Amino acid sequence: MHAYRLFADGPRLVDDLPITEPREGEILVKIAGAGACHSDLHVIEATAAGKSFFTPPFTLGHENTGWVEAVGPGVRNVALGEAVAIYCAWGCGRCRACLISAENYCERQALLLGGGLGRDGGMATHMIVPAARYLVPLGDLEPRDAAPLTDAGLTPYHAVKRALPLLAPDATALVVGIGGLGHMALQILRALTSARVIAVDLSEARLASARELGADQTVVADEHALERVREITHGAAVDVAFDFVGAQSTIDLARKLVRADGEMLIVGLGGGVMPYAQGKIAWGARVSTPFYGSIAELREVIALAARGRLHAHVTRFSLDRVADAYRALHDGTLDGRAVITPNG
Ligand code: NAD
Ligand code: ZN
Ligand code: ZN
Repeated sequence: MHAYRLFADGPRLVDDLPITEPREGEILVKIAGAGACHSDLHVIEATAAGKSFFTPPFTLGHENTGWVEAVGPGVRNVALGEAVAIYCAWGCGRCRACLISAENYCERQALLLGGGLGRDGGMATHMIVPAARYLVPLGDLEPRDAAPLTDAGLTPYHAVKRALPLLAPDATALVVGIGGLGHMALQILRALTSARVIAVDLSEARLASARELGADQTVVADEHALERVREITHGAAVDVAFDFVGAQSTIDLARKLVRADGEMLIVGLGGGVMPYAQGKIAWGARVSTPFYGSIAELREVIALAARGRLHAHVTRFSLDRVADAYRALHDGTLDGRAVITPNG
């Protein structure tokens, strides 16, 4: 089959990867959509520098949906042809975190890999999923357009849920970075809260899209961003700041704007450092670096989409145009998410 694989010397399309039979407990999924996540760019860059956590080669694509094509021995209650979302943080399955479906926080972190992140992912016509618990039914959702739900939807959903107690109707949330994750975060905030939302991005086009998705105010991420947010809030600090970039400039912006006893969630892997000490953030403010979400939360994200409250802006690319999709992601010219559709 064709597959877009990451090798030690970079990623490329191959045409000779065998489609393997599912073994005991495994499921073979015919891929509908595989989203291109900015994390892939970080992984490709780290691999080129010899600093990746993952060992190449493997097929990229950790944001996947598809149709069940075959099941291995011992797999029960999985219907052939069923449209499914694939949960992509594969833990040990036995620790305390895994047993409540939070495999993203598996206690055996060294075992934590996923399809497209160390194991073969969805930028191929087919993909092997190691266990039935990673498949969440999509119901009537269009599988190609649902692919971003599994990461660009799930990751901000988990972050928003963590901060939910602070997001009262009189609260203000700051959302920095309105790309694949950020454009979903805005919709999730609208669906789950009545908080005021201020969106920040470098790009005017992204900010226009943010207003359509329900941001109350938008601010260009330039050297005046801090003052602009303070003007909007009449000098008050924000209750919760979500950073979907994680660069030094965005971490510094967010930490200076979070109120005492507020919360800051650094989701982006932009390489910035949070100076966590007295005086660097308001008293009592909590800081965390959330990672993905649980399988139970993926079910909730899919339900939110099924209820018409969450919808990814998708640009489809064929498997021979993955490099174009990553270039557009790198250049910031996409609106929402690029999704590879290997089977058309
Ligand atoms: P994306 O490229 O689709 O979106 C990034 C957005 O941030 C773009 O709109 C861009 O214009 C904006 N931006 C870039 N620099 C900025 C700056 N200095 N100030 C304000 N806005 C800026 O990326 P994505 O796929 O949404 O991923 C976002 C980040 O989240 C990446 O670092 C990715 O690796 C990370 N990520 C983390 C997790 C997790 O579990 N923690 C999961 C998925 C992705
Ligand atoms: Zn990702
Ligand atoms: Zn575990």
